[in-house]
Amino acid sequence: MPTLNDIVAPIETAAPLAWQESWDNAGWQICPADPATAECTGALLTLDVTEAAVAEAAREGFNLVVSHHPLLFKGLKHITGATSRERIAAAAIRHGIAIYSAHTNMDSAPGGVNFRLAGMLGLENIRVLVPRRNDLLKLVFYTPAAQADDVRQAVLAAGAGHIGGYDSCSYNSEGVGTFRAVSDACRPFVGTVGELHREPETRTETVVPRHLLAGVIRALVQAHPYEEPAYDIIPLELPYRGAGLGCAGDLPEAVPTAEFLRHIVRTLNLASLRHSEIATETVRRIALCGGSGAEFIPAAVAAGAQLFLTADLKYHDFQRGEGRITLADGGHFETEQQVLDVFYELISKKIPNFAVRRAVMPSNPVGYLSGLR
Ligand SMILES: [Zn+2]
Repeated sequence: MPTLNDIVAPIETAAPLAWQESWDNAGWQICPADPATAECTGALLTLDVTEAAVAEAAREGFNLVVSHHPLLFKGLKHITGATSRERIAAAAIRHGIAIYSAHTNMDSAPGGVNFRLAGMLGLENIRVLVPRRNDLLKLVFYTPAAQADDVRQAVLAAGAGHIGGYDSCSYNSEGVGTFRAVSDACRPFVGTVGELHREPETRTETVVPRHLLAGVIRALVQAHPYEEPAYDIIPLELPYRGAGLGCAGDLPEAVPTAEFLRHIVRTLNLASLRHSEIATETVRRIALCGGSGAEFIPAAVAAGAQLFLTADLKYHDFQRGEGRITLADGGHFETEQQVLDVFYELISKKIPNFAVRRAVMPSNPVGYLSGLR
């Protein structure tokens, strides 16, 4: 039987915890047993961790709940059962149920909340709307010329050197390295202890996203013939387009804006859809951000989108399109619920025949009354 870690591993690979926003608290919320060794008896998927979800997991004999929204953002000062958060924590621990959340890291992941929503709406050429910053590093390393190809290959295979639609990107220049082994404990790959050695070396420069750095350095050190390979890690000001919040994409052809709004309603099975004034007669480029994305209205405009789909827009947010872009609010739950399909596919693809399913009771805290007039 897989361990708890085995079940969350594919989620963390797709959406590394390093991609969560600074205010977020993704990852393990509660883990009554060691996730590296505790067997996972089943996983229940839910947008929010509710008392009903934990009770359902307990009934089913599942010892893992995977949610999008974290149960815990701030510290609990007591667990007395006074709030639902406290009752959920107590029930989870009592039943030995672990709770794991993939939140803004999954919002930022290609293939996550937003890419999935874009695919459902039929968008093509889907790319990140707000690329992550401070995530791209330059790696420079020096290898004896004869081994340079092998070491570079190992570093690239570990995930370095991806730029846009290209892989294996590197720049290589030839030079001469010098060193003198001064301790008898040294076992130099080339040269003699006590003598200054000059070695033709290749300087290789490449890029690495921060979340892959540890693995890339491990690969470099393993493949490199020197005891102490020399390398530099340099932070870059450039955005990392491989991950980030929101996304933009294009419809195969322009469609009337009102028709696309109806398409959103049908696709997401909405009870209602709030929208701003229709800014353009037709839309082709669409930006979106599942959940609360009002802060990305300027990014959607800058991306050249004619419509921005998000949720939690306030009254005055609807005026921020300024006649340039139509704003649509599809509801927070409704624009994020597809993440459960993402969880399901990641887990079941990695571990087929494992007991994983959505919670029976949807966790949307918002209800809609209709047909009142
Ligand atoms: Zn959300």
